[in-house]
Amino acid sequence: MSARDTEALRHRLAQIDGAGYKRYKELRGRWRFPDFTLHVDHVQGDPYAAPSPVRVELPAETSELPAEGYGTEPGRLGVAAWLARRFSEAARTVPTRGSGRSGEVRMEHPGQKVEPQTAALCRPDGSVEARFTVGLPGRGRRIAGEQAATLLLDVVPELVRRWLVCHEEDVPELLAAARTNEDAQALRRFLREEDLVAFLADGAMLARASGVEDTPLDSDTAVPFESPESLRATVDLPHAGRISGMPVRPGVTVIVGGGFHGKSTLLRALEAGVYNHMPQDGRERVVTRRDAVKIRAEDGRSVTGVDISSFIDGLPLGRPTHDFTTPNASGSTSQAASIVEAIESEAHVLLIDEDTSATNFMTRDRRMQELVPGAGEPITPFVDRVRSLHGRDDVSTVLVVGGTGDYLDTADTVVRMDTYRPYDVSAHARETARQHPTGRATEGVDAPLRARPRRIRTASLDPSRGRRDTYVRVPDARTLRFGTDTLDLGAVEQITSRAQVRSIGLALAFLARVDEQVLDVAEALDRVEALLEREGLDGLDRRRPGDLAWFRRFELAAALNRLRSLRVGENEEEAGSSEDGTGR
Ligand code: ADP
Ligand code: MG
Repeated sequence: MSARDTEALRHRLAQIDGAGYKRYKELRGRWRFPDFTLHVDHVQGDPYAAPSPVRVELPAETSELPAEGYGTEPGRLGVAAWLARRFSEAARTVPTRGSGRSGEVRMEHPGQKVEPQTAALCRPDGSVEARFTVGLPGRGRRIAGEQAATLLLDVVPELVRRWLVCHEEDVPELLAAARTNEDAQALRRFLREEDLVAFLADGAMLARASGVEDTPLDSDTAVPFESPESLRATVDLPHAGRISGMPVRPGVTVIVGGGFHGKSTLLRALEAGVYNHMPQDGRERVVTRRDAVKIRAEDGRSVTGVDISSFIDGLPLGRPTHDFTTPNASGSTSQAASIVEAIESEAHVLLIDEDTSATNFMTRDRRMQELVPGAGEPITPFVDRVRSLHGRDDVSTVLVVGGTGDYLDTADTVVRMDTYRPYDVSAHARETARQHPTGRATEGVDAPLRARPRRIRTASLDPSRGRRDTYVRVPDARTLRFGTDTLDLGAVEQITSRAQVRSIGLALAFLARVDEQVLDVAEALDRVEALLEREGLDGLDRRRPGDLAWFRRFELAAALNRLRSLRVGENEEEAGSSEDGTGR
C-alpha cells in the first residue's frame, strides 16, 4: 500500500471520531509527512492497553546530521543514543488527556550507556529511524478523533522536528556524542593491543549520584580519578589526544583500603566499563574488557547440573558436586556455580567484591583449618584457586578486600584506595606478606578448573504460557517473566536496563526454537551472537519494537542458568539428575 499524506490522515481521523476504538486499526500502515514517514505498525485494542508502537523515518536531508557524525559505526551508535536520550526525555513531558494512556508518547531511554538499541537508529547514509509508542486517545472505548489529530499531526511532528533533527545549535553535542564513542572504541583497541584488563583515565568521575542512580555524583563533591604514578600509562585517542590513566593488567589485582574510601565504587566502574558511556558520564574513558563478569554470592538461586567440584567437594551424605543441581543454593555454592558458569560462557575476567561474597568461599584462616581439618570442610576457598585460574585457565581476577590480608600472597598488583585516590602498594603488600605469614596451609591444587561441559536440553526452555506461544514480560529491570517461569535477575549486576532483560527473554525464546535437542552452553550463546551479528536486535523480534538493547552472552547465560525449568544432559536420566540423586 502506498503512503497516504497528512490530509488523508486528518480526514480519516475525522471519519472515525466517536466510533468504537477498534476502528483505529484503519491507521495501520504508512503516512507520508512532508519531511518524514510515520509507520503505524500495530494498534492497541483499547485506551488502557499497551500503547501503539509507531516508527518514524527521516531521510538524511531532513535529519540534517553532519556527515562527520555518522561516518563510523561507533559514531553512529553515539548519535543514536544521543537522539534517543533527548527524544525520550522530551516525550515524557507530553501531557496525557482522556482515558487510560490517551495522548501519551513514550520512547525507551537508553540511560547512560552507548550501545546498540532500537529506540533510535542512525544509518550509514545519515538517515534516522525512531521507534516509540503513542497512546491513541479515547473517551471510554470511543475514539477521540480530535485529540488523535492533535497527537499525530501536531505533538508527534513537533517532537520529531525538534529532537530528531540536528539543528545548528545541536552540532557540538552531536559531534561530542559521536567522538566520545569513537574514542571509547579506540580505548578498547588499546586494551586488546596491550593485553590489558581495563583502563581508567585520569579525571574520570566514578561515583554515582546515589545507589539507585546511574548518573554522576555532583561534581562539587566528587573526587576525580588520579592514577598512581608507578602504574600510569598513556594512550593516544583520535579526538581527545593523549590521555593518561591506570591500566589494570592481567593476573590478580587486589583493591584494599579502609571502609568508605571508594573501593566498591572503583570495582563498580570496572563492571560498568564493559559498556561505553555518553559524554559527561564520568566513565566515558573507563573501559573494561567485554568479557569481564561480576561474581557474587546469591543464596536462593537455582543451579542446574554445574560442576563445582573444583571449589566444593565432599558434601555431607556424599552429594555429588560434579553435577550440582539445587533450587536453593547457599552463599558459597551459588558463588562457586556463578564462577564456573562465567568461565563456561568464556569469561576471562572475574570481578569480586567482599561486600557481596560468601566469607567461607573467599578464605579460611589457620585457626579454622586447625579446628575443622581437610575432610570436614568441602570448600576450597577462592584464595587457593585464584592463582591457578590465571596461570591455568587464563582468567584474571580483580577483587576488593578490606577485611583479610590472605590475598596479599596471591596478588600481582595491590591498589590501596585512600579518600577516593588509588595508591600502588604492591611492594609494601609483598613485604607485609613476607613479614607476617598467615600460617594457613594452601588447600588448592595448581591445576585447571575441572568443569564438565554442559549440554542444555532446548525443550526445557519453554516460552509458552496459556494460549501464547511466546510470553516474555519485563515488569522491571530485575525481573523476567519467561513462559511460566519468573526469573529474579537482581543479583546479575551488569544488567542495566529493562530493554536488555526484554532482549534476553527474546533470545531465550529464540534458543527454544532451534532444531537441535541439545546444545553446549557456549554453542547456544554463539548462536544468539551470530543472530545479532547477522540481523541486529531486530532478529529477535520481526515486529521491530523500540525497546530492545544489546546484551552480552554472559547476561544471557545468567538468565539461562537461573531458569528453574532448565534441564541439561543428553538424555532424560542425566537431565533429571539432582544433588541427591532422586530428581526433584
Ligand atoms: P568502600 O567500598 O571502600 O567502603 P564505597 O566505594 O562504597 O567505599 O564508597 C563510599 C562512598 O563514597 C559512597 O557513597 C560513594 O558514592 C562515595 N565515593 C566513592 N568514590 C568517590 C569519589 N571519587 N568522589 C566522591 N565520593 C566518592
Ligand atoms: Mg565496599
